[in-house]
Amino acid sequence: MIFKVLTLFPEMISSVMETGIIGRALKQEKITFQTVNIRDFADNNRAQIDDYPYGGGAGQVIQAQPVYDAFKSVVPDSEDGVKRRVIYLSPQGKRFDQRMAKEFSGDDELVFLCGHYEGVDERVLDEIVTDYVSAGDYILTGGELPALMVMDAVSRLLPGVLGNDSSPDIETFYRDLLEYPQYTRPEVWHEKEVPAVLLSGNHRDIEDWRLERSIERTQRNRADLFRIYTEKTALVNKMKKAKVQNIPASEALSFNDTDIIFAGNSYYLLYDNDAKAFYAGCFEKKNLLIDGYESRVVNNEIKKHAKAGDKCIQLNLPDIITDKDYKDGYLLVFTERNPLSTQRVKEYGEFGEYLKENVAQALLLGKTYYIFVEAKDKQHVQLAKAMGFYMSYIKIKVFRK
Ligand code: SAM
Repeated sequence: MIFKVLTLFPEMISSVMETGIIGRALKQEKITFQTVNIRDFADNNRAQIDDYPYGGGAGQVIQAQPVYDAFKSVVPDSEDGVKRRVIYLSPQGKRFDQRMAKEFSGDDELVFLCGHYEGVDERVLDEIVTDYVSAGDYILTGGELPALMVMDAVSRLLPGVLGNDSSPDIETFYRDLLEYPQYTRPEVWHEKEVPAVLLSGNHRDIEDWRLERSIERTQRNRADLFRIYTEKTALVNKMKKAKVQNIPASEALSFNDTDIIFAGNSYYLLYDNDAKAFYAGCFEKKNLLIDGYESRVVNNEIKKHAKAGDKCIQLNLPDIITDKDYKDGYLLVFTERNPLSTQRVKEYGEFGEYLKENVAQALLLGKTYYIFVEAKDKQHVQLAKAMGFYMSYIKIKVFRK
């Protein structure tokens, strides 16, 4: 993983990055990072990179050109095939969370733009930024702390960084639950004893105890997570019991989400079909036909890209639905890449408009991580790729019902 940080305070980034576990990961070359001082790209010898906002108002705004030049100095060619995101840290962005960290950890390179003063000229943001990320609903003086936060959370998910690859999987937010309480030596401290079950050596009992504590804590501290946890558990149990392949819209909608759920060895995909109804598919069943697809094919593609807890949505191209002669097609797999800022949509005609509208809509709902779009032919695949929110595609066979 390569991190590149465009900042006015490079020393702030390096002092934190070179410390502790992240510092060790740097030494072991599990991650690399580079800072670029935006001030070095000022077009004047006073090193000034900010100016008054057009239209008046308090404060200064960072100018577009120095930011653009700083960006180009570390990303000379954005079409170089590197799996890269350009992240602008902003209180107006999507709030950073563990799922986002997981998704970012699948990229090759993360470029961070740290703003200051009243922010950055919108035009350069439109041109280079793929993701807007917020640390939370409060205003900081600059984007450096949130950038460090994201780099820290992403780094510790990378293989070898923690020295124990399985540990991120049992932490808070895994399975929508907060982590159970932890204890270490001594067995008695201030007359408080470590719970006996943890000393019993019975792994099953320990697991049960920990799950119960996790549930208890989540219920007490995070009603929002707890609701998701209970609803998902109820739905998955129901699906397992009834061996259900499709469930009615109303039930999946009660998640308020479209989601990939892992339960034991199997997993379930809830997805939006035509924006009219939601179905849940039980994907481990071979040859299950889901909305015309042989599930195994879709299943494999999801396995390749998705992780537990990822969200997905399926969009259908209207002309494919009405084209009776249509046999085979392509399933495009997207991740969110801020298609809203893509300015070249018009060049891609109807297909471009269609994608922009639907993908943007899904993103506005804040629900989508993986987006599957049916495409009629290879030209569509290429257009989607050129529009910048392409991730991969597979050729699929479409079964007519
Ligand atoms: N005027 C801007 C607004 O109202 O959206 C806020 C500018 S803030 C004072 C300066 C910079 O700090 C921003 O450009 C952004 O990079 C960073 N920043 C501030 N709060 C942030 C947050 N909650 N999350 C991420 N970045 C933040």
